[in-house]
Amino acid sequence: MNPLFDQAKTVIPGGVNSPVRAFKAVGGEPIFIERAEGAYLFDSNGKRYIDYVLSWGPMIAGHNHPDVLNAVIEKAQLGLSFGAPTEIETTLAKEVIKLVPSLEKVRFVSSGTEATMSAIRLARGYTGRDKIVKFEGCYHGHSDSLLVKAGSGALTFGVPSSPGVPASIADHTITLSYNNADQVREAFKEAGEQIACIIVEPVAGNMNCIPPEPGFLETLREVCDEYGTVLIFDEVMTGFRFGTGGVQGFTGITPDLTCLGKVIGGGMPVGAFGGKTEIMDYIAPVGPVYQAGTLSGNPVSMAAGLAMMKLVQADGFYESLFAKTEKIAQGIQAVANEAGIPFTVNHTGSMWGGFFTEEPKVSNYQQVMACNNEQFNAFFHGMLEGGVNLAPASYEAAFMSTAHSDADIEETLDIARKVFKTL
Ligand code: PMP
Repeated sequence: MNPLFDQAKTVIPGGVNSPVRAFKAVGGEPIFIERAEGAYLFDSNGKRYIDYVLSWGPMIAGHNHPDVLNAVIEKAQLGLSFGAPTEIETTLAKEVIKLVPSLEKVRFVSSGTEATMSAIRLARGYTGRDKIVKFEGCYHGHSDSLLVKAGSGALTFGVPSSPGVPASIADHTITLSYNNADQVREAFKEAGEQIACIIVEPVAGNMNCIPPEPGFLETLREVCDEYGTVLIFDEVMTGFRFGTGGVQGFTGITPDLTCLGKVIGGGMPVGAFGGKTEIMDYIAPVGPVYQAGTLSGNPVSMAAGLAMMKLVQADGFYESLFAKTEKIAQGIQAVANEAGIPFTVNHTGSMWGGFFTEEPKVSNYQQVMACNNEQFNAFFHGMLEGGVNLAPASYEAAFMSTAHSDADIEETLDIARKVFKTL
């Protein structure tokens, strides 16, 4: 029994301010965090955990990096928020535009949800069309149009995945299967002229870690060009995780709009959306599509983001990150094999994830859903007990930071070796 959790539940629904933190999927009670440093979290009892959640992605250079921390402290001394333009917004915008291929103009918001919601509204305003395409298993924040799952047939229109989302809004969302290029072509043949945008995680990280199959992203680019549809890459999770240019830099496939979050704020609440000037200038005050935010472009958050952008441009940053990711992915696969547990690891860039399945390759939502959750839950709790923090649900990718040392990876693998033997 965790008295902090008990107390929290008396005043906060479920004791948490974002549902997955409550451990509902895996059972048991969440650990409460006191502080974090580098690759480690420390809970309210002082226990140390090697962390592969990294605040769900942002802490790519490790927790509490001194450069980010000092930038925040320095900026905070000048005032926390002004609701008026500041130079640092332009500085960060220029930096991000330099790094991410599709960006010509960018607007800052305070979360990934705001970024995707605004990008969708902009795409609809720009094209004058209502329908949008998303993919099963991709998560784009919790705005109404995007909290929609597939209807009964693949090409039927969506149904709300939460009470409170009107069916009349979900109706405009077409949900297709990730990595199924043929289905995308079919959907566009049927309704292409009515589709404002496709929004996609260019590497899916919200159904564990599912990279795009060769040709999938290319097909999205092709149909969008053919039908005058806006292609939106939701790089809230993948941005700055695949090199400074995100998945678009990694693959050379350039979307029309890009959504960013997580790493771009260095751990502070920042999101962004941007793209072609022609589209971005549809946003108020230049254009007719409304979008705004009291704390958008907050100077302290911008300072954290700017410090983070400097860190990711250091020589060898991504080589080291990718090598560490490869090491943990191959290591976990090897210890699972040793224990004779059917298990498949995916990894790409600085994201990785393991699936409790007999399938040697996992590349779509149906396969993810068919994995052995009981085994995952036992594995998760064994790892947590041993001092390794993984996401408390089997549908989440794991992340690597440059702060994870070889010794941290070895320690993780030693713990995993023991846990796999108990499954
Ligand atoms: N898009 C993607 C791909 C995400 O992974 C997330 C959050 N995990 C979001 C959007 C929403 O971001 P936020 O939680 O900051 O609103």
